[in-house]
Amino acid sequence: MNKTALLIFSILLVTGCTINNESNKTSKMAPANFSIVIHGGAGGIKRANFSEAQEIAYKNKLEESLNAGYDVLQKNGSSINAIQAAINVLEDSPLFNAGKGAVFNSEGNQEMDASIMNGNTLNTGAVAGVNHIKNPILAANIVLDSSKHVLLSGKGAEILAKKYGIEMVPSSYFYTEKRFKQLQKIQGKDTTTLDHSAYLIKNSLIDDHKYGTVGAVAIDKYGNIAAGTSTGGMTNKKYGRIGDSPIIGAGTYANNKTCGISSTGTGEYFIRTVAAHEVSSIIKYTNSNPQKALHEVIFNQIAPLGGTGGMILIDAKGDVYWDFNTSGMFRAYKKSSGEQRIELYEKTAFPKNKITK
Ligand code: ASP
Repeated sequence: MNKTALLIFSILLVTGCTINNESNKTSKMAPANFSIVIHGGAGGIKRANFSEAQEIAYKNKLEESLNAGYDVLQKNGSSINAIQAAINVLEDSPLFNAGKGAVFNSEGNQEMDASIMNGNTLNTGAVAGVNHIKNPILAANIVLDSSKHVLLSGKGAEILAKKYGIEMVPSSYFYTEKRFKQLQKIQGKDTTTLDHSAYLIKNSLIDDHKYGTVGAVAIDKYGNIAAGTSTGGMTNKKYGRIGDSPIIGAGTYANNKTCGISSTGTGEYFIRTVAAHEVSSIIKYTNSNPQKALHEVIFNQIAPLGGTGGMILIDAKGDVYWDFNTSGMFRAYKKSSGEQRIELYEKTAFPKNKITK
């Protein structure tokens, strides 16, 4: 190779490298797709049971929650932070059965449960039976971040949350007259109910059956999935009863390789079927479409045992899914493509009940 050829070759090599590096940089920096899906509980949620004003109130609060989570994702935040932001909004609202709107147990107290899971690290945190933590989902994240444990209950969970600066409130903060009336209507009866359960509606024991547990699943710009769930549990539940919401694999599960899930419904059945993990396993081992996996677990495993409820899901590709065997489920999603949907009632007009990014 003569001197000129060597020079040209060197220039090409250097330029080529630069171009390659730049294009690598560009692809790394290119805005990746992200999305968030939330739920506010499943149950006897029918259009006929709602006034226009109530419907607007629910939709507005769901949208506020969605935007809170979406903003975090848009500003390059993590899915773990996004779901906490979304769930905080719902926990602070008396409209939903979590945080401020939590239902009462048989003794007239609230005991709240929450969990969170990072699908990238498979790290998880959960709290159960707490009643002084304003936002139980934040305490669940403290367990994930700052302890070697997965699930802390009662006083121990509250001591840890306080130590890490999580806002504490007197238990009277959680009192709402509406929820107390719901308890009074079934207290003394040997039954527990979803706050929106068909039993309450059928027996005219309650006219306020539209609220529920809350949850969120998100995938961020880095492809990391996270899921979280927060609840007051079930009205008239026994003192000390813990549902599926703080049980990893039942109420919440996330794994970047498969999906993230948050469940809502009669918790005992979601625990018995290890519902969220079961959906993930079906996807993992059978390469099933997530919609089919959700259907299998909700309709062929939970329903035959007598359980009702629903689940929201985001898969590793960032696609959003949901399903439920109740008349309705408060649910909404927002994607970086600009697509957004907020639904309260029966399943409709969702092409194959699937949203593709
Ligand atoms: N799954 C919750 C529990 O059993 C209740 C709900 O989703 O509304 O505690």
